[in-house]
Amino acid sequence: MNLADRLHTAAARLGGRAVLTLDEAQLTYGTLDELSARLAGLLRCRGIGPGDRVAIMLPNVPEFGVVYYGVLRVGAVVVPLDPLLKRREIAAYLGDCGARLLIAWHAFAETAEAGSAGTDCFFVVPGEFRRLLRGVAAEREIADLEPDDTAVVHYTSGTTGRPKGIELTHANLGGNAATVARMHALGVDDVVLGALPLYHTFGQTCSLNATVHAGARLTLLGRFDPGRALEVIRRDGVTVFQGVPTMFIALLDHPGASDMSMLRVCASGGAALPLDVLRAYEARFGCEIVEGYGLSETSPVAATNRGGSHRRPGSIGWPIRGVEMKVVGDDGRELPAGEIGEIVVRGPNVMKGYWNDPAATAEVIRDGWFHTGDLGRVDGDGYFFLVDRRRDVIIRGGYTVYPREVEEVLYEHPAVRQAAVFGVPHPGLGEEIEAVVALRAPVTGEELRDFVRERVAAYKYPRHVSFVDELPMSPTGKILKRALPRLRAGTYG
Ligand code: AMP
Repeated sequence: MNLADRLHTAAARLGGRAVLTLDEAQLTYGTLDELSARLAGLLRCRGIGPGDRVAIMLPNVPEFGVVYYGVLRVGAVVVPLDPLLKRREIAAYLGDCGARLLIAWHAFAETAEAGSAGTDCFFVVPGEFRRLLRGVAAEREIADLEPDDTAVVHYTSGTTGRPKGIELTHANLGGNAATVARMHALGVDDVVLGALPLYHTFGQTCSLNATVHAGARLTLLGRFDPGRALEVIRRDGVTVFQGVPTMFIALLDHPGASDMSMLRVCASGGAALPLDVLRAYEARFGCEIVEGYGLSETSPVAATNRGGSHRRPGSIGWPIRGVEMKVVGDDGRELPAGEIGEIVVRGPNVMKGYWNDPAATAEVIRDGWFHTGDLGRVDGDGYFFLVDRRRDVIIRGGYTVYPREVEEVLYEHPAVRQAAVFGVPHPGLGEEIEAVVALRAPVTGEELRDFVRERVAAYKYPRHVSFVDELPMSPTGKILKRALPRLRAGTYG
């Protein structure tokens, strides 16, 4: 089943209803289906068909949907690129996937062209784009694919060395979007806030594909800004807000955020949601936050902490329908409840593999289980708790320190808005613990250090605390830990 079929089916039912909006710009289901059929016609004229890779570099604009479903319609593979990529990165990804075409937003034309290294480019200029498509014959046929055919190749953010393209199939993405839609009981009257970048799996599955699956409407935000998000929530009567923890923190801090009673579903994922933030947000806005867990390799949702009385705050809940999850030791054996090990996932949401890289695939998918690189534990009732990313763990003088545990303590301090804990090389101890924080009220490094020292074992508290205005974040809400050691100016030691 082609993902483009879902749009076509929804268009037959809901033709005149809005599906993608950005302020005044609006696409109805019917128009989105028609324009994507015309884009498919354009691709066909260029000889692009099943299995060909088409890279797309577009911000959160309605045209994203036209291009996305248009490429899928001819059975080609979408390679979504982060619009902030630089020339070298673009060249590396295009080269790795052997893209036939790069479709980029006009504002990125210069970088896209410079990085295209000979790959054909097509630039989307709003207004002109629609005019051009009107002159193209639509491709009425939707490529008949197998569920296991690749729909999207996602390049992982922040990788070093050889780029890794995550190959997700129509079944992976369609199944995950359907589960998300069902879980949130999305319906035609829902308005979803498109705050997450659509080039990332989180936004693509949970916002775009889940919206289309449910026949709902996605109101896009160009770039996340809490004031702007609030305006749009109120203006459009947003009922579903899916975001990364930084967005929840920003909304919580925004003075204008008072009445958000129209929100029916709030869902956080992509990074750890500090418990204090969850509690403060829920108390202030009266909307429960469902925390989800997953990776691009799992399409992305693997587990959620469903709402209601079943929920355990601080837990990522249990696997979604059809998905299995367990905690294993280094030897691959399942660990008993309470013990910390690697989280592994099996199910229809697990990627086909890394593009053209069987060795990298075999490293992470073993005996049918995808190894996430995340450390966690499960309690006696089957609730999963994330501990940290394996590669972020600090070993100080032989003791293991999970940065997230220390960060949670920092977040308990009322003056702390954002916190990140990391290890720096130390001659005697191997690694020493440091923290970088952004504040919402004045406090000294010494006070913060003492605050943590009183609450955790002596080997865990940060010996140095530095201050910054904002922590470096990826657009999907992950603190860029590798950038932190460079920010240690103004260190308190
Ligand atoms: P990505 O592949 O960019 O989607 O990133 C996946 C990673 O995000 C996972 O391996 C986790 O480390 C992290 N992540 C996702 N969801 C959560 C969550 N609810 N809590 C903590 N970390 C998360």
